[in-house]
Amino acid sequence: MAETFKTLEVVCPICSVMKNINIPEAIFSQKKFGSVKIQVPINAVCPEHQFIVFVDTKGKIRGYEKIDIQMLTVSPQAETEVTGKINLRNLIKTFGVYGILNLIHAKIFNYPTYILKDDIFEYNEDILNRIGDNILPEGYKGHKTIYLLEETAIDKIKVKDKDAFIMDTHQHIFQTPWITKLKFEEEIIKRALEIIDEEEQLKLLQQDIAFLAREVSYAISILQDVDGIYEDELLDKISKALSIKKISAYHMNLIKLFISRNISKKIASKIKNRVGEFLSVL
Ligand SMILES: [Zn+2]
Repeated sequence: MAETFKTLEVVCPICSVMKNINIPEAIFSQKKFGSVKIQVPINAVCPEHQFIVFVDTKGKIRGYEKIDIQMLTVSPQAETEVTGKINLRNLIKTFGVYGILNLIHAKIFNYPTYILKDDIFEYNEDILNRIGDNILPEGYKGHKTIYLLEETAIDKIKVKDKDAFIMDTHQHIFQTPWITKLKFEEEIIKRALEIIDEEEQLKLLQQDIAFLAREVSYAISILQDVDGIYEDELLDKISKALSIKKISAYHMNLIKLFISRNISKKIASKIKNRVGEFLSVL
């Protein structure tokens, strides 16, 4: 059956360049996930910017989001050289920068990940899970969280996990079970991409994530001895103990999420939020 397409009139959210792009109709015909995030790489619409388009099930554009990470453009010759190798650049080529940020978030915070794959997708489940393990700190490796689905039609898949991250190998994102901004993931990816040595890139990611795990370990050592503690007190204690610059509220939330998803919801719930408490008495 020939695939039918829907034409979207897409406008670059940064400089307003406009271009029509064709998206498979099947992407919209699914009703399960509501809106779909479509990554638009450099040159697809705009020669300078890449971004995400939010499209609803009727095929109407609901919004845009910028992607700040700009990838160095790779010459076609260099591209054939690196095909088949597993490195950050190839992964980004397949999943898009935004897809990679989400995949890293899913891996760090232990969300089940489902990827709808087409025939030309070259990695298998084991390899993807191994790459995922490579960026995790010791003690958190070895959980299989990435599943490949031999299906390209989103309306045909059945995923029971409500907290699953779901995307395909064509840079369409169907479900992200979190609402947090991916600032941490963006920072560590930016830093990794600045290094030329491709093996070192994944190592650097692992180091940055290990640092988060260190903060988590220290937080847990405090939480074990108390019934509850306010976020701002806890972040003061962690920052002082590890002699790092004061942890932001955003970063504190990452620590809390890490504990909740990787260690124990009960321990995470000991971290109290003054605003939340204030709201709950209203
Ligand atoms: Zn632009």
